[in-house]
Amino acid sequence: MKQKEIALSILPNRPDLDDADDDHALTNWDTPMRSDAFELSDEEKIRRIEGHFRSIMETLGLDLTDDSLQGTPQRVAKMFVKEAFSGLNPANRPHPRLFENKYNYDQMLVEKDITFFSHCEHHFVPIYGKIHVGYFSSGKVIGLSKINRIVQFFAKRPQVQERLTVQIGKEMEKVLRTMNVAVVVDANHMCVASRGVGDTNSKTGTAYFSGKFREETYKREFLNYINAR
Ligand SMILES: [Zn+2]
Repeated sequence: MKQKEIALSILPNRPDLDDADDDHALTNWDTPMRSDAFELSDEEKIRRIEGHFRSIMETLGLDLTDDSLQGTPQRVAKMFVKEAFSGLNPANRPHPRLFENKYNYDQMLVEKDITFFSHCEHHFVPIYGKIHVGYFSSGKVIGLSKINRIVQFFAKRPQVQERLTVQIGKEMEKVLRTMNVAVVVDANHMCVASRGVGDTNSKTGTAYFSGKFREETYKREFLNYINAR
C-alpha cells in the first residue's frame, strides 16, 4: 500500500471549541476495544446493561415502580446495544458491492449533507450533524446509499469527532479502492451545548483529505461544493 498522509484540520469559519476539559489526544484511529468485546451475546449485554442502568436510576433516587420509569432500564439497554452503539460490532459492518464505473467518469463524486447521530465518548450525550464525502473513482463505484451506511456504522459508536472523521475516510479508501477521499464532518456537540460552557451556537468542523484532495484545487472544489446551499 502506498504511503498516505492524513490531513486533519479545523476548517476556517467553523469556530474551534474550548475543549480544555476533554482529552482529544488520540494514539491511533481505532476505537479502543477490549479483546473480549464480543464474548457476550447481544442478549446477554442487554440483560447486564439493564441491571446496571436500573442501579444508576435507583442511585439517583428514582422510583422504578412508577409506570413511566419501569421500562426505562430495558429500553436504554436495547437502544445502546441495538442502535446507538451497534457500530461497535464488526458483524454490523456494511460490505457494499462494487460496480464497474461504466461511464468512465473520472471526476470528483460528492455526497453531501448526510445526517448522522453519534455519541460523545466522554459524556455519552449526542453529537449530531452533517457529513460530506467525496472521492475519485478508481474505476469502481458503490451505491450512494452505501456511503450513507458506512457513515452510520462509524457514527453508531461512542466517538470523538476526529476519530469518526478519519474512520470514515479510511473505510472509504478501503471499500472503494481509491486513495483519493475527502470527508468533512460538521457537528453539534450536546456536551458543549447542554452542559459545561452551555454554548448552543458553536459547531465543530473536522476534515480528512487524502491523495488528490490534498491538492489545493480539488480541495477548494470540494469545499466550495459542500458549502454551496
Ligand atoms: Zn463530551
